[in-house]
Amino acid sequence: MQLFDTARGAVVPFEPGPEVRMYVCGITPYDSTHLGHANTYLTYDLLIRRLEDLGHSVKLVRNITDVDDSILPKARELGVDFLELAATETARFHRDMQALNTRPVFEEPHATSWVTEMVDLIETLAEKGHTYVVDGTVFYDVSTFPSFGALSGYGEATMIEFAAERGGNPDDPRLRNPLDFILWQPSLDDEPSWPSPWGDGRPGWHIECSAMSMGILGPTLDLHGGGSDLIFPHHECSRAQSEAANGVTFANHWMHTGMVAYQGTKMSKSLGNLVFVSELSKTHDPRAIRLALMGHHYRSDWEWFDDDIATGARLLDRLHHAARAAGGPDPAGYGTRVRDALDDDLDAPAALHALTELADAILEGGDDPAAPTVLGELGALVGIDLGAAPAPLA
Ligand SMILES: [Zn+2]
Repeated sequence: MQLFDTARGAVVPFEPGPEVRMYVCGITPYDSTHLGHANTYLTYDLLIRRLEDLGHSVKLVRNITDVDDSILPKARELGVDFLELAATETARFHRDMQALNTRPVFEEPHATSWVTEMVDLIETLAEKGHTYVVDGTVFYDVSTFPSFGALSGYGEATMIEFAAERGGNPDDPRLRNPLDFILWQPSLDDEPSWPSPWGDGRPGWHIECSAMSMGILGPTLDLHGGGSDLIFPHHECSRAQSEAANGVTFANHWMHTGMVAYQGTKMSKSLGNLVFVSELSKTHDPRAIRLALMGHHYRSDWEWFDDDIATGARLLDRLHHAARAAGGPDPAGYGTRVRDALDDDLDAPAALHALTELADAILEGGDDPAAPTVLGELGALVGIDLGAAPAPLA
């Protein structure tokens, strides 16, 4: 299998051992699962399905970021406890992931259950000279990690710009370098806090994923994934602190998914134009969502249009009808085409194209009873169960 590796900037062989240790950054449970999340998690789900098809066993760890700079203000705004908000939204996320037929995770750590390990990790970084403390806030000193920036490949100006946009504060006067980031900070009065050698407080966002991934999967991952907006600062910082602490490669392969916009505009919470899986699932079979997303390559940025769901639903109908037919043409070669497409940097659109061609050929006629069976098997390989009739439209 060949996959694009963000760190190397090229499509390279992905050749893990029999057991694949995979970490994908999970949700901050303060709002529903939107299509951007679905696009990301279905991408790794498709990868896992092909790896299992190849005989690997995959340990997927996908965390729940139940304490960070975005869930606490939201809980405050709603007047609820942050853990209550997290529990509600996590339950909704699980329903969405189940509806989309994603493979079960090996473990789903909650950040709030791993604070002791985070403190230990920060202490290790402190002992090795990678940190400094200002008024109870512990910062990571990027000047102590010479290859900082090597994952993203971004220049300093871009890194500063993205840090400001994505949760950092490069103008913080306490910083020695604008790219230094918070490992630990004192909590505000109404925020949760945990004891630490630097005073009561809470962890920074990046240290959470490092502690959870190394705690469950060990110091080196076969593959680390997430949306491309996590490349910097989140993954760059995760890599810097993990490798500084352990002295070994943090992830052998970095895989990132493109961003989904909505009808010409960036999909964002602040613009109020998020398209939610739970909403789409009220009116359409969730398999139609999956099919609609498969029409885009995971690395491309693309736009969702309102009629995309109807296109997905029509395709589901066609595939389902074909899978129930009595016969079709000789299906030899279709399985190879689908698998070759997936092995070519997880080319879901090409795999879907082969699947659709087989369905169309079946609908044109033929008497080989193996054809509908093969179609059903290939559907299952890409996560589309063609056994059940499409849900009627609401
Ligand atoms: Zn993460």
